[in-house]
Amino acid sequence: MTIKENQSLRPFNTFGLDASCLGLIRIYSVEDLLDVIQNNIHPLRILGGGSNILLSGDIPAYILKNEIKGLTIIEEDENQVLVEVGAGEPWHQFVMWSIAHGFAGIENLALIPGTVGAAPMQNIGAYGVEQEMAFDKLRATHLTTGTESVFTKTDCAFGYRESVFKNELKDQYFITHVSYRLLKKDYTLHLQYGDIQKTLTNMSVANPGLEDVAAAVIEIRRSKLPDPKKIGNAGSFFKNPVVDATKYDELKLLYPEIPGYPTTENNVKLPAGWLIEKAGYKGYRSGNIGVHQLQALVLVNYGGGHGKDIQNLAYEIQEKVWEIFGVRISPEVNFW
Ligand code: FAD
Ligand code: NAP
Repeated sequence: MTIKENQSLRPFNTFGLDASCLGLIRIYSVEDLLDVIQNNIHPLRILGGGSNILLSGDIPAYILKNEIKGLTIIEEDENQVLVEVGAGEPWHQFVMWSIAHGFAGIENLALIPGTVGAAPMQNIGAYGVEQEMAFDKLRATHLTTGTESVFTKTDCAFGYRESVFKNELKDQYFITHVSYRLLKKDYTLHLQYGDIQKTLTNMSVANPGLEDVAAAVIEIRRSKLPDPKKIGNAGSFFKNPVVDATKYDELKLLYPEIPGYPTTENNVKLPAGWLIEKAGYKGYRSGNIGVHQLQALVLVNYGGGHGKDIQNLAYEIQEKVWEIFGVRISPEVNFW
């Protein structure tokens, strides 16, 4: 085991924020992880691609950088395949591997940054698909006992950008391997969401395949989202709030143009980006940090910004949205 001391975390988070840690340890296998646990090194933090964290200051912990790789087909028949993926594999590469093999289920999740191991953490989702739709199970190692457990879909308690690992079991388990069940035939493509269909039409694709869907998603994402390599960000900073139908009707009277997407018979999801834009924060800038000009849900570091300032801006936005609309928005990004 090698502990790299005095390691800045700047290269390891997509906000591009500077922060120190006690040391960085690269984990290539479950054995590496057990080595750390047996040597009683603590406190520990788990880091994937750093695309969903906000470093609000120096981190008084050892950082376990997930480098567990590998992709194994566990079961296969004429209809489907069960594949186990090392949690340190980049998510987008896994999506592209699936598409190249003709395996369906995660094509709408192309270009989401980060690692496979972090995908179940917040049940990543985009364009009408969530990873839980293809998820089979995962293996995780307890950070103090070193015991390995298998978590089924039910055990993970997936919700909208939620799982048991973000709640009751927060910071307790290192997810080492995730298995997905992908379809080889008789699958349905998810084309109804947002601009996918329109983009396919613009691409002159009449009968889309998996590659076409992913290409459309990639094109839409590139046109709308800031590239973290150019402007530091962690994607959507807040989750979309869900309100009851009565509250939605009240808001609709005041703001007839407010978008809303029913989630159940009595609940409606509001786009947090719309609320933030309406509150006047789209394109807001304070020194080196701010809210993206095209996408109000994305907080940005223009370079040299501080995590604490982004955190304070997030609190300010939350309060303003509450004051204006009486709706609580909560962060999707993990505050470290
Ligand atoms: P990290 O940021 O490294 O970690 C996130 C949290 O998970 C941390 O608390 C960490 O401790 C924990 N964690 C990480 N790995 C493990 C592990 N192996 N075991 C246990 N805990 C772990 N998200 C979406 O859902 N949909 C999107 O469409 C989307 N688009 C994005 C676009 C951009 C431009 C960016 C920057 C982000 C976007 N995100 C999106 C958010 C982010 O990419 C995902 O949440 C991603 O899964 C985070 O992966 P990561 O490896 O970078 O996690
Ligand atoms: P968008 O299409 O402009 O829509 C704004 C919001 O409205 C989305 O967040 C989405 O909620 C909701 N929405 C739109 N059409 C919907 C529909 N037909 N049914 C239900 N809900 C609908 O959003 P965007 O910002 O460009 O993002 C597109 C997709 O990528 C979204 O799914 C978004 O979540 C995902 N994304 C996520 C992140 C992240 O960091 N988490 C970053 C970028 C993009 P949902 O978010 O619930 O889908």
